[in-house]
Amino acid sequence: MKAEIIGIGTELLMGELTDTNSAWIASRLPALGIQLQWVSIVGDDLPMLTEAFKSGMKRSDIIFTTGGLGPTQDDLTREAIAAAFGETPTVQPEVVEDLERYFAARGTPMPQHNIKQANLIPSARFVPNRNGTAPGWWAERDGKIIICMPGPPSENHSMWQEQIEPQLAELIEDEVTITRNIKTMGMSEGAVDEVISEFFGVENPYLGIYSKADGIHLRVIARAKSSESARAMIAPVELAIHDRLGEYVWGYDDETPEQAAGKSLLAKGLSLAVMETCTGGALTNSITNVPESISYFKGGLVAYDGAALRAIGVPAAVLDNHGVVSQQTANAMAEAVRRNLNADLGVGLSGVTGPGELEGKPLGLAYISVTNGKRSREMEMRLPPRQVTIKRRVPNQALIELRRLIEEIS
Ligand code: AMP
Ligand code: MG
Repeated sequence: MKAEIIGIGTELLMGELTDTNSAWIASRLPALGIQLQWVSIVGDDLPMLTEAFKSGMKRSDIIFTTGGLGPTQDDLTREAIAAAFGETPTVQPEVVEDLERYFAARGTPMPQHNIKQANLIPSARFVPNRNGTAPGWWAERDGKIIICMPGPPSENHSMWQEQIEPQLAELIEDEVTITRNIKTMGMSEGAVDEVISEFFGVENPYLGIYSKADGIHLRVIARAKSSESARAMIAPVELAIHDRLGEYVWGYDDETPEQAAGKSLLAKGLSLAVMETCTGGALTNSITNVPESISYFKGGLVAYDGAALRAIGVPAAVLDNHGVVSQQTANAMAEAVRRNLNADLGVGLSGVTGPGELEGKPLGLAYISVTNGKRSREMEMRLPPRQVTIKRRVPNQALIELRRLIEEIS
């Protein structure tokens, strides 16, 4: 089923309000097997809205709308659907009574303007709203569905969860969608794209490529009559990704670098200690986001100048010869913290902390070292000169290198 979402409201067009409802609804559709293909924002304008519904009915099986169901004169969603269908709305007395009861429970009479929320056309039915005055609309015409939900996110989301989603699931129960997310690090987006190019552009299974702070993600989405058939459609794509990119793959689905590294440490019974400079504790923060880290993490030290590094065991000669920002210093940090904290594995991160250059080296330059005392992995990174990017990307890369070293030594 092909779907679209229309966010309705002039304030959305003015940039005064961000259309969070559309993104929220969009995130719910893949699991239902509904393919979203179009999202638009239309102001509170009857001709424009009517036109939006007419074009939407041509290209989509389902149109979701959010907003424009209020009692005020600028809320025109119902009127626009009536115009697009060529139907005349009539006031439904039982809904007027519901509205009167809603206001009575709050101790005020119902404003006359609210009566328009009781309007209905023959092709539509109401969807009750437990959290507000605006009932939703579920309209069907010529095999197409239009589902209208209120704008306030709390009303929108509760109506979706309690009524819209269960009814949609019933409608399309004969189709399941399965997603497999394969996470890689170390190859550029363009290079990944090239290596597995023949799988792109296919509708089902669909292959998407996304660049994230923890590498390039490949997402395979398959729709089929059963989960077994959907998995069978994913399998050959996943196999090809492994064949061609296997050494770069570090995790699957919702796994984070700290979870992937933690899993390897736990499985091998190894302990970890880290020392960092430019990331200011971000690596330690990531590691300790995993509750199980208590059983493998010895500690993380943050050193922000040469004296701190020397105090924690980095030899003065290394600092004098190579500077704080160097592979040699990162290596010495990894080994010093491993030994001093009595851990099996040590990680050292050194880089330029900003605001500008350090020791003549540019902001964005960082070095990673991971060691078990016998074997190491080293890496130089050149990142955009932004502190937040450095703090996010260097720890991710270090955790992935750590996982790779554990695989190499076991
Ligand atoms: P409306 O139903 O158009 O009168 O919208 C009522 C209220 O819901 C607005 O004042 C906003 O606070 C909120 N709202 C409307 N549309 C959206 C949207 N697309 N995303 C988030 N909030 C919205
Ligand atoms: Mg509005």
